[in-house]
Amino acid sequence: METTPVVELREVTKTYPGVTALDAVALTVEAGELIAIVGPSGSGKSTMLHMIGTLDRPTSGTVLIEGQDVSRLSDRRLSALRATRIGFVFQQFHLAHGVTALDNVADGLLYQGMPLTARRRTARETLERVGLGHRLDHRPHQLSGGEKQRVAIARAVAGDPAILLADEPTGALDSVSGAGVLDLLRELSGHGTTVIVITHDRDIAATLPRQVGMRDGRIAVGAAR
Ligand code: ADP
Ligand code: MG
Repeated sequence: METTPVVELREVTKTYPGVTALDAVALTVEAGELIAIVGPSGSGKSTMLHMIGTLDRPTSGTVLIEGQDVSRLSDRRLSALRATRIGFVFQQFHLAHGVTALDNVADGLLYQGMPLTARRRTARETLERVGLGHRLDHRPHQLSGGEKQRVAIARAVAGDPAILLADEPTGALDSVSGAGVLDLLRELSGHGTTVIVITHDRDIAATLPRQVGMRDGRIAVGAAR
């Protein structure tokens, strides 16, 4: 029996004045996959992430998330889908300054409508899961880069999203911390989360089970599937 892909892009084009950032891209990602979207700067990787993450609408073409055509959802339902089914991780962590690791993760669960004690309990369990049980009360400036990215990943997955989107998650890290973050992403995908990693680094992409190459807004020949 065929299962519904978690992500499906059909002929997705995104243009900006004078620029075709994505040019009729087709991509299918199945549940639990761990993939790298790899290509040079300007090839359209972040634009693709914005399409998959429903942060922006395509100029033409269709984006399906868990079989739902997102263009058919109201803004309210689209926000709900994004908040509950998709987690985001960025190169620069985007943690709240002066807020403990625990509350950075707990605040990520606000949309779920859980009371504060439940949010904090889930946040603690998730931080323990990413190896930061001993850093709950640390604020971002008291954490290393690798630890900050683990907090950001904990925040992204605490609500148990179907998809984790990571844009250059190791870009601000030394190679040892970066490898640790990739191990964590691998482990999350092993537990069923679909993980999509964007990187310009071919060596990092090569360590992941599937690579989708991007060039000039298109999926590079041989990488499509
Ligand atoms: P990558 O993440 O691979 O570096 P991007 O998806 O950010 O590439 O960009 C792809 C192309 O689209 C680039 O030429 C970039 O300048 C252009 N672009 C991206 N976002 C915008 C925007 N908001 N306005 C205008 N051009 C954009
Ligand atoms: Mg980018």
